Amino acid sequence: MEVVRNVYREDHEQFRTTVRRFLERECLPRQETWLADGIVDRETWQKAGREGLLGTSLPEEYGGGGGDFGHAAIIAEEMAHVGVSVSFGLHSDIVAPYIARLGTEEQKQRWLPGVCAGETILAVAITEPGGGSDVKACRTTAVRDGDEWVINGSKTFISNGFISDMVMVVCKTDPAAGAKGVSLIMVETNREGFRRGRKLHKVGMHSQDTAELFFDNVRVPASNLLGEVNKGFGYLMHDLAQERFIIAVGAASKLERLLAQTVEYVKDRKAFGGTIWDFQNTRFKLADIKANAVALRTMVDYYLAEHMRRGLSGEEAAIAKLYSTEVLWKCIDDMVQLHGGYGYMLEYPIARAFVDMRIARVYGGSNEVMRELITRKM
Ligand SMILES: Cc1cc2nc3c(=O)[nH]c(=O)nc-3n(C[C@H](O)[C@H](O)[C@H](O)COP(=O)(O)OP(=O)(O)OC[C@H]3O[C@@H](n4cnc5c(N)ncnc54)[C@H](O)[C@@H]3O)c2cc1C
Repeated sequence: MEVVRNVYREDHEQFRTTVRRFLERECLPRQETWLADGIVDRETWQKAGREGLLGTSLPEEYGGGGGDFGHAAIIAEEMAHVGVSVSFGLHSDIVAPYIARLGTEEQKQRWLPGVCAGETILAVAITEPGGGSDVKACRTTAVRDGDEWVINGSKTFISNGFISDMVMVVCKTDPAAGAKGVSLIMVETNREGFRRGRKLHKVGMHSQDTAELFFDNVRVPASNLLGEVNKGFGYLMHDLAQERFIIAVGAASKLERLLAQTVEYVKDRKAFGGTIWDFQNTRFKLADIKANAVALRTMVDYYLAEHMRRGLSGEEAAIAKLYSTEVLWKCIDDMVQLHGGYGYMLEYPIARAFVDMRIARVYGGSNEVMRELITRKM
C-alpha cells in the first residue's frame, strides 16, 4: 500500500509536471557532459530561470514565482526521481531566502531578479579548511573600513563554488565574541582579491562544482551586509532548518525511486534457474526497505505540511535530516548488494546513489551535530 499524499495542492502538481518535463528534456541529456566536466553549464541555469524553476517561493515583484515551500520541495523530489543533480535548491531555497528575509528593499531589488533569472548564481560559504561543524569558530574576518567591509580568509567544500556570481560569506566581525561576532556578507565573485582554488575531486556528486574560495583583502560596500552586524549566527540557525529539511525531502523520494528500480532489476536478473527476486532473502530485504520508505515518506510529509504552515524548528529539521539520511544510506547499501557487481557500475542508478548520497550524512551539518541539536531539548 502506498502512502496517500495530501500535502500538495493542484497548482503544486501542475508545477511537478513542468519540473519533470524540464529535467527530462533539458537536464538528462546533458548529464553525462556535466559529470565529465564537474560542472553544470550556465545556459541550463538561465533556461531554468526562464521556465520558472528558480526562486519559486520568492515574491513575484522580484521575479520569483510567488509560490511556497511546496514548490521548492517538488523540485527536490523531481531531481531525486529523474536522477539528475543540479544545485537549483541550494541557490533558490537555501541561499536566496536569506536575502528575501534579511535584505533591505534596495538589496532585494538589486539581487533577486538576477537570482530568479539564473543570471546571478548563488553559493553559501560557511565551511573553512580548519573546520565546518563549529560555525562560530570560523576564522574568515570582515573589518569595517569607511563605507566598505574588507574580507580575509578562506572557505572550502563550497557548492557552486566555481560557477557562482555571488557568495554569502560567513565572517567574523568581532573575533573575540564567539557566536555573537558572526555576520553574513554578500560578496560578488568579480571583486578584486577574490579567488577560486582548485575544483575538488569528490567521491560522488560529480556534476556539482565544489571549490575552495580565497579572500585576500576583498572590499565590498558596507551595504552588502545582510541583516545586522554580529547577528549572523542566529540567522544561520534559523535558516539552516530549511536547508536540512530539503535534504530529507530529497532523501524520501530518492529511496522510493531506488526501491522501484531495484525491484525491477531483481525481477529481471536470472540466477539458479529463477530470478534474484525468487530468493526469500531478496524479498525480505525489499520488504524492510519498503517499510523504511513508507515510514520516511510519512514523516517527511508530516513535516512538509508543518513547514508550509509554520516553519520547522531546528530540532524538527535535525530529526528529519538525521533519520532520512541514515535510513537512505542503510537501504542503498542493501540495494547495492541485491544488484551484485552491477551495483558497483556507475551506469546503474543504485551505484550513482551509492557515491552521491554518502555525503548526505555529513553536509548540511553532520549527523553527529544533528544528534547534538536533538538531545539539547531532552
Ligand atoms: C560535496 C560537499 C558539498 C558541500 N557544500 C557546502 C557548501 O555549499 N557550503 C558550505 O559552507 N559547506 C559545504 N560543505 C561542507 C559540509 O557542510 C561540512 O563538510 C560539514 O559541515 C562537516 O564539517 P567538516 O567537514 O569540517 O567536518 P568536522 O567539523 O571536522 O567534523 C569531523 C567529524 O567530527 C564530527 N563532529 C564535529 N563536531 C562534533 C560534535 N560536536 N559532536 C560529535 N561529533 C562531532 C563530525 O560529525 C564529523 O564526523 C560541503 C561538503 C561537501 C563534501
